[in-house]
Amino acid sequence: MNYVIIGGGVAGLGCVEGIRSVDTEGAITLITEEMHPPYSRPGISYWLSGKLTDSGMPLREKDFYDSLKVIVKTGATAVGIDTKKNFVTLENGETVPYDRLLIATGGVPIFPPITGTDGAPDPDRRIFTFTTYRDAKEILTRKDAIQKAVVIGGGLIGLKAAEALNDIGVQVTVLELMDRVLSQAFDDIAGEMARKRLDRAGIVVITGDTVDEVLTDGSAVTGVRLRTGSEIETDAVVVAIGVRPNLDLAEAAGLTVDRGIVVDDTLTTSDTHIYAAGDTASAYDIIAKEKRVTPILPNAYRQGRQAGRNMAGADETYEGGLPMNAIGFYGLDTISIGLVNPEEDQDLTVLTRLDEEAETYRKLVLDKGRLLGVVLVGDVARAGIFAGLIRDGVDVAGLEERMLSPDFGHVHLDTDVRKERLGR
Ligand SMILES: Cc1cc2nc3c(=O)[nH]c(=O)nc-3n(C[C@H](O)[C@H](O)[C@H](O)COP(=O)(O)OP(=O)(O)OC[C@H]3O[C@@H](n4cnc5c(N)ncnc54)[C@H](O)[C@@H]3O)c2cc1C
Repeated sequence: MNYVIIGGGVAGLGCVEGIRSVDTEGAITLITEEMHPPYSRPGISYWLSGKLTDSGMPLREKDFYDSLKVIVKTGATAVGIDTKKNFVTLENGETVPYDRLLIATGGVPIFPPITGTDGAPDPDRRIFTFTTYRDAKEILTRKDAIQKAVVIGGGLIGLKAAEALNDIGVQVTVLELMDRVLSQAFDDIAGEMARKRLDRAGIVVITGDTVDEVLTDGSAVTGVRLRTGSEIETDAVVVAIGVRPNLDLAEAAGLTVDRGIVVDDTLTTSDTHIYAAGDTASAYDIIAKEKRVTPILPNAYRQGRQAGRNMAGADETYEGGLPMNAIGFYGLDTISIGLVNPEEDQDLTVLTRLDEEAETYRKLVLDKGRLLGVVLVGDVARAGIFAGLIRDGVDVAGLEERMLSPDFGHVHLDTDVRKERLGR
């Protein structure tokens, strides 16, 4: 069997491990346009701030791919898929035949049309995005010219960029169009707690506003003009408003796509020889109870691994994704899992516990005794238990108040549930 994987992110890595857990012999080729084998994408902010060195970035040891007999083609861009003759064409004209193919091309940063930019990053003019190792290197190379930076976007990626820049001595302003940071993954209380930490670290956060124009002196950024009219002086702009699935190859190959590449419950696309996983795939989500793109690392790995197993013949059903976001900065750990911002008409129970002094916060969203979502700020030690309760749809009726307490743990669960979940 000839397996080909397009995309050397965590989904591609998961696929390698999934295939090898079933088939130890088939040929595997991993094609990735980046210059590095799979590395820690969240790690780029720690790399930029110097907390992580180059040696800490790869997700697996150097000899991992050789030992699993995987051919890794770095710096190789796939430009086409021939779904009739089953081969992938690379930019250099080379063709790579496959029996089973995984598309794991991830996401591409969204870059809105902002006056003064070409609608794309331009590192020489100090206009950056922040999703790859290369982006982090582009910024670090120009560090001496950057005393001030504006980060557009107060979501997870924007805040990680802001933290790293602040750590290397840059004066950072974060602009967020919504009325709070982390608005998608967290609720207003958690967002406010995060904002206070950023304030304390010296990062300026402006909400309800964004950049309408990037001002330059012809060769580089000098400032930004905001939608509300004011101007901020800056040496650099980092656009970090999210990613969109990278669908070019799949669309050109005629695969079914909606917001992402549509896959069935075995992660197969509309072509039975082709699978998709990670930030580019639209796969079943256990909270939304429908297919959607959930661009987070654990989903990408699980999907990649499951796709790999199925490519090798396992024929197993993907358990479904669970939205989960973890972000920690300046000592404040936060995690959100599942549904955390329910609509009022959803008729769900929402319980919260805020300890302002200890800077801890817990929020539970329940539907008739079943946990649908949780927000943890400050004390995140029980995140794994909550994730399990949500994923397994465990009946927690009667335990609601207990779950709000910092000491809640497995010991408080019903013996039957414990037996089922812990084997004791
Ligand atoms: C700064 C930052 C922090 C993050 N922090 C977190 C976090 O704390 N928790 C979390 O859950 N998630 C986090 N994420 C998101 C997480 O990293 C992604 O969900 C995950 O990396 C997706 O993996 P993937 O393999 O699907 O795609 P990607 O990691 O995007 O990998 C896709 C790869 O495919 C390559 N590729 C694309 N097209 C082609 C082509 N035509 N030919 C060859 N190669 C191609 C790309 O170059 C890339 O290397 C973070 C992301 C960033 C940027």
